[in-house]
Amino acid sequence: MSYEFEIADCIRMTHSSLIRDYSNTVCGYDDGINLTIGQPDFHTPDRIKKAAEEAIEKNFTQYTDDEGLLELREAEAKYMKKSIHAIYDPSGEILVTCGATQGLDAVIRTVCQKGMEVLLPAPIYCGYDPIIRFAGSVPKYFDTSKNDFEISGEMLDHAYTTYTRCLLLASPNNPTGSIMTENEMNDIVQWLLKHPDVFVISDEIYADLTFHGNHLSLASVPALHDRVIVISGVSKAYAMTGWRIGFVCAPRKLITEIYKVHQNEVSCAASISQFAALEALQSDVEPKKMCSEYEKRSVFLYHALRKLGFDVVKPEGAFYLFPSIRKFGMSSELFANCLMKEMHVGVVPGSAFSKYGEGFIRISTAASMEDLQECVSRLKVFLKQLERKENGNITDVYESGENSKYLQELNLSRSMGVPFRRR
Ligand code: PLP
Repeated sequence: MSYEFEIADCIRMTHSSLIRDYSNTVCGYDDGINLTIGQPDFHTPDRIKKAAEEAIEKNFTQYTDDEGLLELREAEAKYMKKSIHAIYDPSGEILVTCGATQGLDAVIRTVCQKGMEVLLPAPIYCGYDPIIRFAGSVPKYFDTSKNDFEISGEMLDHAYTTYTRCLLLASPNNPTGSIMTENEMNDIVQWLLKHPDVFVISDEIYADLTFHGNHLSLASVPALHDRVIVISGVSKAYAMTGWRIGFVCAPRKLITEIYKVHQNEVSCAASISQFAALEALQSDVEPKKMCSEYEKRSVFLYHALRKLGFDVVKPEGAFYLFPSIRKFGMSSELFANCLMKEMHVGVVPGSAFSKYGEGFIRISTAASMEDLQECVSRLKVFLKQLERKENGNITDVYESGENSKYLQELNLSRSMGVPFRRR
């Protein structure tokens, strides 16, 4: 039976995650180095796992309040006050969600009417696009790649239309590793003050993985507080991606509406995971340790990539580097595919993060130092191979397109039996 006409258009036209595809492919090699997925390589700290075990022992296995355990919302309120000096009432201004992802979904469904536009500074995390489309809204990307991934008021002016409903920001950023600077924040604030009808969705899932200084958030600006919706969670900083706990913090009027989506789509987040997250928020010792490890790795990889001749912006947070591969005259997908096939190193093509990510690759530092060192050694060999194949001129061979024998050999989608999809 053909299902073609019964599946909703917005679902049919959405591809599964390109990042997953690359990760699955590299896992197929015994000696593969997987630098694809944004997943901490640390284990969830023992005290957190113990709290979950205790919750099971005590039979805390039923639905919680739909908005989440009150103690957990209180802990999140405390965290928000401490980290960004923003005050949220645990009763009515905070929701516990199934990871940041479900929080984003509930928020976007709530604030975006059909046909409205969501401004996305790009390159940007590829998880937003389908959520926005599922809500019937339109992702409106604008390019930050030529400005070292910093947003300016001018860029926002160009991207804004009468359909603009909200601005979605992520700091620290995936895939670039950059953070919102003070200057940038001032520019954005000034612009928002001129556009009182624009909401801000501030994805702060990597807030605790800020390498230097304080994490900056628009939610701490009093003049904007009533229209900034903060998304956060324990997935990244506490190595808890599988527990699926996130938070939405926003003014009461907004949470009242977002709650309706949340309640009807999931009822509540998993009770056991909520007890684990409650324990997580009791201490920031582990996030600090992990953050310092990610920083060490980022600094190592940043310098190693520069030594190899890559142009790369120094990351200030999260666990990604986003070097340019433009000088090699290949598309980001071809570069990633060649690196996979030749060297068994998995990275993500920048094109996965919108068209403005083309010309870059994303390398995750959520991997051991040994793996990163091995990645650098293999990259060195890979670049030498490219040079040899080109006789010094890399661009010509790759631009000869589908007729190139080398390109055909590298047609991973056929030879590896894994569907490579673009999005
Ligand atoms: N936001 C950003 C910027 C991310 O990079 C990710 C995951 O990679 C998420 C949200 C999803 O977070 P969670 O696993 O808590 O749903």
